[in-house]
Amino acid sequence: MFYSGTDRRYPRRAAFSPLHTWPIGILGHSRRLKPFQRGSGVNAARPCRTGCGAINRTAELFTWISLAAFVCLFLRPLSAADSAPARTAIVRAVDLDVNEAQEVELADGTKARVKLLRLDETRDGLRDAVRQARVQVELNGQSLVLTSATYHLPVTAAGVQIDCPITKGYVTNSSEGNAWGLLKDARLRLWPAGSPWIEPGMFVYPLKQRWFASHTQMANEPTFVDGGEAPSNKKIYYHYGLDSGGAEGMVEIVAAAAGRVISSGKEILPGYDDSPVQARYDVVYLLDDRGWFYRYSHLQTIDPAVRPGAQISLGQKVGVLGKEGGSGGWSHLHFDITSRQPSGLWGIQEGYAFLWEAYQRQNAPKLIAVARPHHFVFTGEKVVLDGSKSWSASGRIARYDWTFTDGTTASGPTLERAYSQSGEYSEILKVTDARGEVDYDFAVVLVIDKSAPDQLPPTLHPTFAPTLGIRADDTVTFKVRSFRTTFGNETWDFGDGSGKVTVKSDGNVEQHAKDGYAVTQHRFARAGHYLVRVERTNERGQRAVAHLHVSVGPGDIGVAK
Ligand SMILES: [Zn+2]
Repeated sequence: MFYSGTDRRYPRRAAFSPLHTWPIGILGHSRRLKPFQRGSGVNAARPCRTGCGAINRTAELFTWISLAAFVCLFLRPLSAADSAPARTAIVRAVDLDVNEAQEVELADGTKARVKLLRLDETRDGLRDAVRQARVQVELNGQSLVLTSATYHLPVTAAGVQIDCPITKGYVTNSSEGNAWGLLKDARLRLWPAGSPWIEPGMFVYPLKQRWFASHTQMANEPTFVDGGEAPSNKKIYYHYGLDSGGAEGMVEIVAAAAGRVISSGKEILPGYDDSPVQARYDVVYLLDDRGWFYRYSHLQTIDPAVRPGAQISLGQKVGVLGKEGGSGGWSHLHFDITSRQPSGLWGIQEGYAFLWEAYQRQNAPKLIAVARPHHFVFTGEKVVLDGSKSWSASGRIARYDWTFTDGTTASGPTLERAYSQSGEYSEILKVTDARGEVDYDFAVVLVIDKSAPDQLPPTLHPTFAPTLGIRADDTVTFKVRSFRTTFGNETWDFGDGSGKVTVKSDGNVEQHAKDGYAVTQHRFARAGHYLVRVERTNERGQRAVAHLHVSVGPGDIGVAK
């Protein structure tokens, strides 16, 4: 996650700023859209850049609008951010209202006709946050249903690949405004059937870390790791970038795509003041030849070679993972991509599928368990745990086995469950393929006491490093930080029969505290899969539990390396 460090509502081009401050992009649209509050400030800064055509329902503003349009045209060539990209990405996007259809030309020159038939958004009873958005679309005459983002990948249907990165409900009560630049009911993205989602050889996984090695907050998932989910908090920070937790100071961050450094720390390349770039001491922006801006946030250190104007190669070191800036106090990489959207506005280019594909190319995992996103419920309410997004290279997963925090077990890709006590739960999903290979993931369930909704349970962020290539007897570092409590201690159980270890983190009293995480080290004597558990209980007896999956070699042991 990140929070805007500066208010860029008023662009620096002072002579034109009075026109830019008109809410031009919004008047013709729903008041629920709040482009001005966009987290990275882009659409806030440039309301008239592209929104000019969308305004003319308010007649009395016509003159202003005409003027603004003129100024927009006039300004366009001045912005380096808008110079024509050298290359067009494979992905195509289209924004549609319900009952609207469009023909889209795909990257291979073929055409697809897509119509948005229906949008269903499911909200929780605690914060009124969208927890699931499903769209029904007609694609080349064939009807199908897609779930928007939240760890869903593109699907193949009717001779094309399609996904739904964002729907209207997510931008209506977002604390981040319209980060997506979406002015219609839903956005759909299309690729030719059989095509990669992102060009091979031109995109890599930006962390030197195992897939899902720690908590994540992917697109459209309300942020939760730092304790940000509370029933009283009605402005939802639906994450739009991709947050990957990791051990502070121990995970190298690399360039997902080659590109030019536009900002590094507080230094910004001249000519990019009006662009998606928001320089901050812990942030790097790169611009690739697709015209996409890549943000790397919360870096503990930035590599000295990453200077404004420098050309950075694919996979080159950008810095080291940290918890700087507006991290909320949990150590993670915030990675996002901003590009021009069908609305004409700058907006998020959903990157989860790109990370997934890049990781697969680089690591060739045989199996990936997916139990995310997290859940947020009152006591007594039903939760649907869902492992069906798990993936097997063999094409089929033979078993889905769940072990719950209370010790009970169940089987099946999805199941319902309710909780009588508030707390942070970590439900273990084990997937097994036909050859007996296994992988694990954990479903975080945050349960709030319905009779005392202000008494929030603690939350935990555990990490470890290294996560790749661990051998028996290697020293592994474990770091944990608690949120929403300073009471008690964290207790580690490394899952190998060794004694429990007690540590005490600071409870995130000061999010940037250097020793905020409690650190311990452990060695596993034998190869295998270890489910490491950590927990902490507050003064009211509310407990948080979290897990890590540590796979210890030697040799290929069949899980994501
Ligand atoms: Zn983030």
